[in-house]
Amino acid sequence: MSTSILVVEDEPAIQELLRLNLEDAGFTVHTVADAESAQAQINAALPDLILLDWMLPGQSGLAFARILRGDARTRELPIIMVTARSDEADRISGLEAWVDDYVTKPFSPRELKARIKTVLRRRAPESAQVSLTVGALTLDPITHRVTADGSPVELGPTEFRLLKFFMARPERVHSRTHLLDQVWGDHVYIEERTIDVHIRRLRRALEPHGIAQMLETVRGSGYRLAAQK
Ligand code: CA
Repeated sequence: MSTSILVVEDEPAIQELLRLNLEDAGFTVHTVADAESAQAQINAALPDLILLDWMLPGQSGLAFARILRGDARTRELPIIMVTARSDEADRISGLEAWVDDYVTKPFSPRELKARIKTVLRRRAPESAQVSLTVGALTLDPITHRVTADGSPVELGPTEFRLLKFFMARPERVHSRTHLLDQVWGDHVYIEERTIDVHIRRLRRALEPHGIAQMLETVRGSGYRLAAQK
């Protein structure tokens, strides 16, 4: 599953430049030309990051960023704003309250890719393709290998995704609804108890390594991966 980026840019030449460069870097790219189409695309499938032009026809990129931040479903969505040099400096200085980072046109594709990686690592560590370590567990997202104190842990693809999500956010409690949204995708219709089945499988895979108890049930709330056990 490659990291998906939604590009919201109304200038066709820049839109195409961004698409080519980001696809070349291994991202899955969707492009739209205004905030309304971006919202429709986000409703259909939540991207891993949004690259948002400030000056758009209709609703501005900044107004749209505020809406995304105000909605529980998109509150955590990483946003990089694309601005033009002509935008006022004092307005740009207030941007960081609404977006994760911004780049000023004209920007080099290499600089943009570096910033995307930094933001992804900060906001959604499991999308950044870096190795994750929590307690005895280490997960390599590129080779799909998981080890516990150096010995391999055998996992099915769903358990792998689930563990990766937990390892990117140790100690945090995740509700079943949140896990459904983030691990299965929010347009997959499965029952919440299916999650319990996968949690059980994940615990069973961790059991031979003596660390099944790292995955805690938080009564009435959901599940948590304890950083140390
Ligand atoms: Ca524009």
